[in-house]
Amino acid sequence: MALFDLKDFDNHEQVVFCSDDESGLKAIIAVHSTKLGPAVGGCRMWDYASDEEAITDVLRLSKGMTYKNAMAGLSMGGGKSVIIGDAKKIKSEKLFKAFGRALNGLAGRYVSAEDVNITTGDIAIVNTETDFVTGTEGKSGNPAPFTALGTFLGIKAAVKHKLNTDDLSGLRVAIQGLGSVGLYLCEHLHNAGAKLVVTDLNQEALDKVATQYGAEIVGLNEIYDQDVDIYAPCALGATINDSTIDRIKAKIVAGCANNQLAEPRHDQALVERGILYAPDYVINAGGIINVSFEEDYCVDKATRKVEEIYDTLLDVFSKADTLNKPTGEVADDIARQIIANGGK
Ligand code: NAD
Repeated sequence: MALFDLKDFDNHEQVVFCSDDESGLKAIIAVHSTKLGPAVGGCRMWDYASDEEAITDVLRLSKGMTYKNAMAGLSMGGGKSVIIGDAKKIKSEKLFKAFGRALNGLAGRYVSAEDVNITTGDIAIVNTETDFVTGTEGKSGNPAPFTALGTFLGIKAAVKHKLNTDDLSGLRVAIQGLGSVGLYLCEHLHNAGAKLVVTDLNQEALDKVATQYGAEIVGLNEIYDQDVDIYAPCALGATINDSTIDRIKAKIVAGCANNQLAEPRHDQALVERGILYAPDYVINAGGIINVSFEEDYCVDKATRKVEEIYDTLLDVFSKADTLNKPTGEVADDIARQIIANGGK
């Protein structure tokens, strides 16, 4: 495989392949940019179909972190790591310790945290071998509730811009994925009076939101066809693609998943269908914002900073209208400008 020619290679500063015989660790760490500070971004554990799929994921996710951190006004660069394997089978103390030692090899150029299938407990084990982790218990902790808060406020901003109201009551929201973030998001939306339509692989999570919030459960592939106002992708990436886009009836796409668009051209394709897209790395920055307060953690300060996502998104939406450009492209332009200006 010609790594430097890959479609998703974007002059990443460093891509490191890590393995450890004894624990079976197979991981890839991608440092996309350290221009604004050490590269910070979570670690994802996933049973990738191929190594190529894992490389693509880590390249795309780490670039997203550079843009996300810049857009959120954080003095942090962008990086991400993936551990390859089935989380139900491969997790062990040895494996997370080996991952911690691998992080030491980057000497602080990359700082890791939680992402899909990685808990604060896992990060605590990594932390026994390295200081280059964040989002640790007793400090900023689990980022998911803050990601959910930011996503909820982002949905409110999108509703304000597209539907000209501050009131979510009665609006129907399709939520795909009831994991760490999705469950908290359901709670916010339910409290605001929204009607929930949900899907997940996990029956327990489905039962929980059906019982607690009266959510309507639909099949995994039916979520796109729902007659809803908002589609909130909160599972994995690339769910807006050639086979789903014409099925989306929502007027707004706003959720916490990373890399929601399968291709950059789907940004414009959403505009053509009259759908307002809240760029993923802007709306889902709540967790990383919270983590950025790790040292001298103060929940009020972190929450106030997460709340800025509302105005940041309104700004992106109105610039997109003025410039007649898709929202994702506008967000990318702003993020690149911030990076070029050294964080300002
Ligand atoms: P999670 O692993 O806790 O939850 C993911 C959920 O999606 C699980 O319940 C899983 O069963 C479900 N799922 C998987 N495939 C599905 C499918 N095809 N259809 C429906 N549901 C499916 O992960 P999370 O931490 O809640 O993160 C969710 C998304 O948000 C990810 O894309 C992640 O990268 C992104 N994100 C998370 C955070 C955070 O703070 N955790 C921050 C920023 C972005």
